[in-house]
This record gives sequence, C-alpha cells and structure tokens, in this order.
Amino acid sequence: MLKKRKYVFAVVVLAILVFSLLAYQNLSVPHKNLYEITASFDPAQKTITAVQKTVYVNTSGRSLKEVIFHIYPNAFRDEKTAPFFPSEFSKAYPSGFSPGGIDIQWVKVGGRSIPFTIEGRDKTILKVDLLKPLKSGRSIAVFMSYTIKIPPSEGRFGHGKYTYNITNWYPIACVYDEKGWHKDAYWILGDPFYSDVGDYRVSIKTPASFIVASTGDIKKEAVRGGYKTWSIVAKNVRDFAMVVSDKFKIASDKVNGITVYSYYFSEDEFGKRALRYGRDALKFFSDYIGPYPYHQFSVVQADFYVGGMEYPNLVMIDKGLYTKSNVFNMEYVIAHETAHQWWYGVVGNDEVNEAWLDEGLTEYSTIMYLEGYYGKSVADNVFSKAIEKPFEEFMASSKDTNTLKPLSQFKGWEDYTNLTYNKGAVMYSHLRKLVGDKVFNQILRKYYNDYKYKNATTQNLIDVATQVYGKDLGGFFQEWLY
Ligand SMILES: [Zn+2]
Repeated sequence: MLKKRKYVFAVVVLAILVFSLLAYQNLSVPHKNLYEITASFDPAQKTITAVQKTVYVNTSGRSLKEVIFHIYPNAFRDEKTAPFFPSEFSKAYPSGFSPGGIDIQWVKVGGRSIPFTIEGRDKTILKVDLLKPLKSGRSIAVFMSYTIKIPPSEGRFGHGKYTYNITNWYPIACVYDEKGWHKDAYWILGDPFYSDVGDYRVSIKTPASFIVASTGDIKKEAVRGGYKTWSIVAKNVRDFAMVVSDKFKIASDKVNGITVYSYYFSEDEFGKRALRYGRDALKFFSDYIGPYPYHQFSVVQADFYVGGMEYPNLVMIDKGLYTKSNVFNMEYVIAHETAHQWWYGVVGNDEVNEAWLDEGLTEYSTIMYLEGYYGKSVADNVFSKAIEKPFEEFMASSKDTNTLKPLSQFKGWEDYTNLTYNKGAVMYSHLRKLVGDKVFNQILRKYYNDYKYKNATTQNLIDVATQVYGKDLGGFFQEWLY
C-alpha cells in the first residue's frame, strides 16, 4: 500500500452441490491450494452470495485436524474492529458507519456438513473441523456457502459512489509455516496479510451494466437476462481481488507481451495517463528485476482514500489522484503499487511480522523507476526530500527505531511509514553504494528468482545478498534492522 499523502441463485448453488458430491476425493497432491468460487454480486443489496470449493493442500509436514481460513469482511462488522484509526473514520466512512461482514451458511466435506467455529478478536478466523486428520502431503476439498455484506467504506473493502472494492473478501486459507497457523486479525495498520500462492477459478454474476476489473484473466463474459457472468482464471497468485463498477471506461496497451488496462471514471486524459504509468512501471520492473509472469495488469481508479493498494495483477488507485495537480503523486503511487507485483505479489512475505520486507524494497524500487525514466538527479532529489529527510527527522526524535517487529508494536502510521518504507529504502541506498549498482541489481534478480511464488523472510534476503556479494552482509543488515 502507499498512503499519501437478495439474489438467491438456487440453480447455481444446486449445480455446485451436485458437483461437490461427485468431486470430493482425497486428491493426489498438487502443491498449492485451488479456489473455485461461484458468486453473485447484487449492487442493490450490496451483497455477494457465493459457493466456494477450496482444495486445500496440507504442506505442513504433520497431520492436520482442522483447516483455518481468514474471513476478513468480519472486521467491518463493528466500529471497534473496523481497520481504521478514529482520525481516519470520516474518510473511511464518508456517509457514516454501517456494518459489513460475512455470514457462513454451511461448510461441507464429502457432501456432509461439518462443524466450524468463528474466532478471533475481530471474528475473522474460520476454523473448519475436518473430523478426521488430513495427512501431510494430502489434499481435501472443503465446500462452503456464504453471503458477504459490502460496507459503505472507501478503504480496501467497501463501496463508494463509483466503485465496489471487493478485496480480502472470500475465505482464504491461513498460512501454516514453521510457526504453525498464522491467525492474525485484520490489523488497523499496514497491509496485514500473509498468504500462499494458489490457483483460482472465479465466476461472478453481475447486472449486465457492470464491469469487473480483477486478478487473473477474464476468459468469458456471457450476457443473459440482464446479467453478465464473468469467468475468470488466475494461476500462481496469492490473493484474488475485484473492483466492480457500472461507471468504468477502459483503456489498454501492451508491453513485453502483457496487456495493461486502465479502468477509470474520471476524464480520459487521466485514465490514459494512469495507463501509461502502469505500462512504463511494468516495463521497467520487468527489465530491471525479472519478467512479470502473468498475462495482464490492471490499474484501477477507485473510491479509495488511502493512495494506492496492491493486489495480484490489480492495483487500486485513489480517485483523488486523477487530477492535474496530482499527476506526479499519481505516477509515484502507480509505480510503487506496480513494484509490489514483484515484492508481495510474486515474492511473498509475512506482512504482519515483517512488513518492511516488501515495503522497503518496493519503495526503493520506485526510486529506481524514477532514476530509469528521469535520471539520477531527479531520483536523488525525490529520495532525499520524500524519504531520507523525514526518516532522519524521525530517527532524531524517536526512541523505538526497531524495524523488525509485528504490526501490533507500531504506534501509528508515522512510525510505521518511517521504519518500514523509509528506513528500508534508505538502507537499500546504502547497500547499493556498498556493493555497487551491478551487484545490487544481481541481488534483487536472484532474490526474485529464488523466491518466486514463495514466501521469503528477512534472513532469506540477507542470505541471497551475502551469496551474491561474496562477503557476509549479515552485519550490515543487523545494524539497520535491529
Ligand atoms: Zn506499498
């Protein structure tokens, strides 16, 4: 992220149920989870009704008695758990608070209803009891039916006058790693997400006048009886997001064989500018870090007050940036969110406990983008004014300057921004001076290649840097991060 500044489709449900009975089996092992979601979006009721099949793969190395999912919409049920500071509420809910959430109707395995519980301080954890243990290396198909209420929020999840921001919306499996299940809440700060790469097949039915911008590739748009069904496939992505609107215009272009889209509702001039920035950024990072491994990238203007937010193949951009006086900010935010396709999207990390890992690298990559297109003096100037100076001022007046800590230990956006984005970027500028431009670039390229579609840790990054440089860089990172 970058801060700046009731339809019931009984037939569909029934078809899925029949399919689910036939399809259940302890499947041979794919290495990643598969999500198949059949959903209906109702803009009048502000709801999404869906049936989801998750083929969950147990890669934990031990038997699991349960599978645990995040159900993030529940954070929006209550003003106390909605992920906004009190000072942000009037922007997040310009027409006042009204609850969102997700109601799970049932969970089934092998055609049988199975018990589930909803847990966590913000009720965003769904624990599914498998009844019998799932051995390591095996997979299981878990089916569920749910209804989501979209709140009137102009944050990541919600709707405003122009767009429905449907992100972190469906039940997504929690990561199980060497620390066990990661059952983090939807924290008020940062981008509090951590997920594994998976495959997605999503079908979403909307009124025919609506346009869906999403993760993945739209394979088919079928219109019938005033409705449109969008069939979307996404491979090797760590989340699936959509922005839906009946006001979108679309512009597109191609770069390095990838289609870049701009979805917008402002004047064409700014929608086309957004397209150009997205295309240029995609090209720069593809050349500098490594190829973008998907078919499309969408830059989406949204009722989103926070600047920009990254999702796989899709970035949401604050509608307020589509104006003459904001074109530089617009370019900066789009370049930043595009860099996240590499750092967060392809190479993942635990954004709750090591937020600096993607944000620091993304922020410095944005500076590299400026250097690539505008030259070193422009990039240096932006770096020193927007990153280094605020960081130095923060360091001079703060006691707690530790970067490697969970989101819960940051006080607010100021220390979070300085210690993850700014400190990370300043550290990379020093690293680049130390190892030289060529080695610096090799470190980024190797880190990208080695951790493609995986989750990396700070230690993984240090190890790659040391390996490429040929001398131990542990001390360098230690000094900056701890
Ligand atoms: Zn970011």
